[in-house]
Amino acid sequence: MMEIKDKKISIIGAAKSGVGAAKLVKALGGIPFVSDSASGQKLADSISKLKENNIEFEIGSHSKRVYDCELLVVSPGVPSDAVVIKNALNKNIKVVSEIELASFFCKGKIIAITGTNGKTTTTSLCTHVLNECGLKTYSAGNIGVALSEIAPDVKEDEFVSLEVSSFQLDFIEDFKPKIAVILNITPDHLNRYENKFENYINSKLRIYKNLDEKDYLIMNKDDETLTGSLTSHKSNDLYFSLKEAQPFGAYLLNDNVIFNYDSFMEFSCGVSEINLKGEHNIANAMAVISIAKILKCDNEKIKKALGSFQGVEHRLEFVRKINGIKFINDSKATNVDSVWYALRSFEEPIFLILGGQDKGNDYNKIKDLVIKKVVKIYAIGSSADKVFNFFHSFVKVEIKNSMEEAVLAANSEAKQNEVVLLSPACASFDMFENYEHRGRVFKQAVNKL
Ligand code: ADP
Repeated sequence: MMEIKDKKISIIGAAKSGVGAAKLVKALGGIPFVSDSASGQKLADSISKLKENNIEFEIGSHSKRVYDCELLVVSPGVPSDAVVIKNALNKNIKVVSEIELASFFCKGKIIAITGTNGKTTTTSLCTHVLNECGLKTYSAGNIGVALSEIAPDVKEDEFVSLEVSSFQLDFIEDFKPKIAVILNITPDHLNRYENKFENYINSKLRIYKNLDEKDYLIMNKDDETLTGSLTSHKSNDLYFSLKEAQPFGAYLLNDNVIFNYDSFMEFSCGVSEINLKGEHNIANAMAVISIAKILKCDNEKIKKALGSFQGVEHRLEFVRKINGIKFINDSKATNVDSVWYALRSFEEPIFLILGGQDKGNDYNKIKDLVIKKVVKIYAIGSSADKVFNFFHSFVKVEIKNSMEEAVLAANSEAKQNEVVLLSPACASFDMFENYEHRGRVFKQAVNKL
């Protein structure tokens, strides 16, 4: 366990997790200092909380004061290649992620969920299912509630469903969940990993580093990057697969999801009983079913919970049906892989709103699907030209200057039983504050129609 009392601890990032970590440090008798390079305007809420709690902080840039500490704590939003972290490491300061710090003070059991896509959905579904099964569970991590904020309140017989990003995994040493999940690993954030996919993979794999024989690791069997990169570890392994039966884990058989433990069928339910769209979400649900069965939840309660889950905003979220045209908000699709799954989730012809701040996207992965399913693309944002250039020779593409224009055009061109889908494959920062803002603007435009 980490000794905090009377220690100077710097915390990078003043959003919810940073503030949570600072409060935790203070409560444990340490001396927190919070530093964030973002502008004061963005952090107004945090500033008032820090002041309220008498916590020393700086906003706008990182000064030398940051390095006057024995430990540096990194918030989830801060990339592991940030200069301030490199500097601290060069000065031989110990660097840990916020979840590592918080996890030492959490008595409950942690279920850590990572992957390139599906973390938030799976984390929320896990919390919903376990709570419905009578196991008190909190959602935390990259999901709006910092682990630091809730850690001290979680009791021994309670659970935390924790969304964990690769950046957080870069700075764990002793973080030890009871159950860990790796949903998938596809190229994303490579700009933060010296453009080396390998580095990003290794970062994700750190999640099982401290698991022992009593712990569980749940993985996607269909993900060859993942299965091909696994290194030796001690945990009990379970797999989920959309393609083949699993002796330990969940799989799809006809239209049923089955969970086996040691080839003994412990659970089954119809795909239609799961209230989520798309095969990627069946995979997410399989991970959650595996968690629930490891924790010995009741089958009927699990099924009921899978049927009552309401999904998560901005992830293939149904907005409205107008004149038989369905409008879907998938603003959180910030990489090509998630768009691939979005396109596969619909039988209907699709009018796709695509583009934004490009992250080095390779659209070859969705080219065939687009040809098969998409009637027309509306290209938006700073990557509109790139989208146009890549797609225009095999599908209709039109560049639009705003979300409203794209929605208006899609509404006038789509017909009954067709789908208008915002699934941009890009970051949102060229036109919006974040993906939530982009999703809200889309929904407002749809609701105005
Ligand atoms: P994350 O928290 O990892 O970003 P989300 O649950 O927020 O994941 O989903 C992000 C995007 O990825 C959404 O567009 C969603 O529809 C899609 N998605 C969800 N689960 C998966 C999955 N298992 N594989 C691929 N894409 C997924």
